[in-house]
Amino acid sequence: MDNIRWGLIGATFIARDWMISAFRNTGGTVASVLSSSPERAKEFAAVKEIPLGTTSMDELLGGDIDAVYISTTNELHVPQALAAIKAGKHVLCEKPLALGYAGAKEMVEAAENAGVVFATNHHLRNSGTHLAMRAAIVAGKIGRPLFARVAHARYLPGFLQGWRLTDPKKGAGVILDITTHDVDSLRFLLGDNPKSVLCMTQTGTLAKGNVEDGAMTLIEFESGLVAHTHDAFTTKYASTGLEIHGTEGSLIGTDCMTQDPIGEVLLRTEAGEERLTIDRGNLYERGLRAFGEAIAGNGKPAASGEDGLWSLAAGLAAVQSGRTGQRVPVTI
Ligand code: NDP
Repeated sequence: MDNIRWGLIGATFIARDWMISAFRNTGGTVASVLSSSPERAKEFAAVKEIPLGTTSMDELLGGDIDAVYISTTNELHVPQALAAIKAGKHVLCEKPLALGYAGAKEMVEAAENAGVVFATNHHLRNSGTHLAMRAAIVAGKIGRPLFARVAHARYLPGFLQGWRLTDPKKGAGVILDITTHDVDSLRFLLGDNPKSVLCMTQTGTLAKGNVEDGAMTLIEFESGLVAHTHDAFTTKYASTGLEIHGTEGSLIGTDCMTQDPIGEVLLRTEAGEERLTIDRGNLYERGLRAFGEAIAGNGKPAASGEDGLWSLAAGLAAVQSGRTGQRVPVTI
């Protein structure tokens, strides 16, 4: 299904700058936007040429839409998703799915029971770099993966320096924001699930109170692989990357933990070094095409509700580990 009529729940940066063009470029239309503020609803709708800007969830869900895209702050995802599911709408929900595991599980199960598609907007698994790495691993090019390293420390731009740094009730902190993406990337690449995490956090230069704006996390996977992730809002000059080191080779991805279709991947084995061919397609659009296929009954979304549960569970375990200093098991 490529002519999806979308209702946007949240007048947000990610909707405005990334998702609306992706909805339209994949054949969809944006019918409505919900905001808690009548002025913001009206202005957002006018600027983005959306027919309806409203503060009424009933009005949005009662309109002629097939699916909703939920990109409000994280404490709102569960009640908003449950309302949309009850109205029979398919749901694309931002990560982290929720602030607590039970709420996330409830909405994923509600979608299953209602027979609607539920997807998590983990875009990185749709990146050409990740797809090339996944193909190399599946083809056995690096043998058995032993270690992974994710560099995902960046600088939070000024216009986003709000709730992410100050408001735990909305899900502030770099772990729920970025480490969750790392976990999803690793699960996708390795075909493996996290088993336990050990995390050290930092409140460096931007966050306030007990909110972490930097974190380093060790993740043990079920296969025995050990991964290390480095996430931050505070580093202006760091580059991103993802490396996987196996018994027969290493995959070295550079500039590949981004929203843009950039980055390179080097495969290094006994045979030498090879730069992998990368598809430069838009990450969000690839995800939306899979979402449309799932609605049509062909396969699953790129990142499902269950995928969102895993990344949330690992993120929450990392938060707990950062607070207690203990290694924390991960299960869903
Ligand atoms: P924003 O900070 O842009 O918006 C969050 C909320 O703040 C909105 O729902 C909105 O409320 C309110 N808001 C927006 N602009 C203003 C304003 N000018 N004044 C007052 N309030 C305002 O959120 P993000 O887009 O950064 O993140 C939203 C969600 O998307 C999060 O869950 C985040 O984790 C996720 N995200 C995912 C990304 C991905 O690539 N998958 C990338 C970025 C974010 P209202 O809707 O009521 O108007």
